[in-house]
Amino acid sequence: MKILAIGRNYAEHIQELNNEKPDAPVIFSKPDTAILKNNAPFYHPDFSSDIHHEVEILVKIGKEGKNIHEKFAHKYYSEIGIGIDFTARDLQQKAKEKGLPWDIAKGFNGSAPISDFYPISDLGDLANLNFSLKIDGEIKQQGNTNLMLFNFNYLISYLSIFFTLKKGDIIFTGTPKGVGPVKPGNRLEAFIENRKLLDFEVK
Ligand code: MG
Repeated sequence: MKILAIGRNYAEHIQELNNEKPDAPVIFSKPDTAILKNNAPFYHPDFSSDIHHEVEILVKIGKEGKNIHEKFAHKYYSEIGIGIDFTARDLQQKAKEKGLPWDIAKGFNGSAPISDFYPISDLGDLANLNFSLKIDGEIKQQGNTNLMLFNFNYLISYLSIFFTLKKGDIIFTGTPKGVGPVKPGNRLEAFIENRKLLDFEVK
């Protein structure tokens, strides 16, 4: 399986990092070794002193497709979840300054904690879904899918131009504002609406 991720999909998050609003989705990927499941702890790596949390809605691809028309994109997924796109912001910043790829800043071991996946209908209206992240009990990020610049169907259609999407692939759909650093000892809890789907510690 592969993990594809969308950068800069929420306007206020673009502003907080002083990035430009994209005219097409910004795409990157993470290897499958980035995945953490079952609320496994995240071990803060030594190579970065600025690991940021980015809470994101995840879409799981349900069947293989490429060059998917936006109008049919909904047929290619039926389950969503929530995850953290951990980002070594210091390494990413260095790469950005030099115009180099971000792979190590985004794809390192454990950089993709993910929840279980649930049928969309269990969680609410996909076009108006609240989600949030608490750290040590305090709300740090709150988003709603109605604030996405590019919606789920558009993203799937766009990604499938370049990458054949396969059953089990996971799409990270972008983070809302409020990103910031994590440190050992933090407890992260992520919610879709009022349902807690992720709960793990940074060690
Ligand atoms: Mg992200």
